[in-house]
Amino acid sequence: MKIFRTDLHVGLNNKLFEISSSSLGLDNVSFAEDKITCTIHSEHAPNGYYIKGFMTVSISESCDRCLIDFNSKQTIEFSILLTSDVKLINNDEHDVIFFTDQDDAVDFNPVLAEYVLLDRPLKKLCTDDCKGLCTSCGCNKNEMDCDCTQDTQSSNWEVLKNIN
Ligand SMILES: [Zn+2]
Ligand SMILES: [Zn+2]
Repeated sequence: MKIFRTDLHVGLNNKLFEISSSSLGLDNVSFAEDKITCTIHSEHAPNGYYIKGFMTVSISESCDRCLIDFNSKQTIEFSILLTSDVKLINNDEHDVIFFTDQDDAVDFNPVLAEYVLLDRPLKKLCTDDCKGLCTSCGCNKNEMDCDCTQDTQSSNWEVLKNIN
């Protein structure tokens, strides 16, 4: 996705962009939908432009507890400063893209790809209260109750009792 200086000069007013997930070059992320929608708002800033917006991505993940695949739809917000001012490159408030007066467009795909990676949770769960797999028989405890559930719990209690 390219954003052109001429558009930034006029100002993007919550403009909708559609990009293909494959254009982000994230080979190790499996997108459930190829289409990513991105809404972008821009404003003039000293020596550049502010860009704010959000994108909606749908990623196919595998649950860390029960191992089933599920689709995770995320809305990712971003706030980026495009600037020709080298002094602003390291700045805590915004992510910054260096944009010199000679550039007439900026490629947004690398920065969007970074946002997608940063947004992925460390722990991927199909639901917050996923019960996971039984450690004894391996059944999916979200789908069925197995007989060994009780045993595992009581043996844990035995261990605690022995400690006391
Ligand atoms: Zn799960
Ligand atoms: Zn079991």
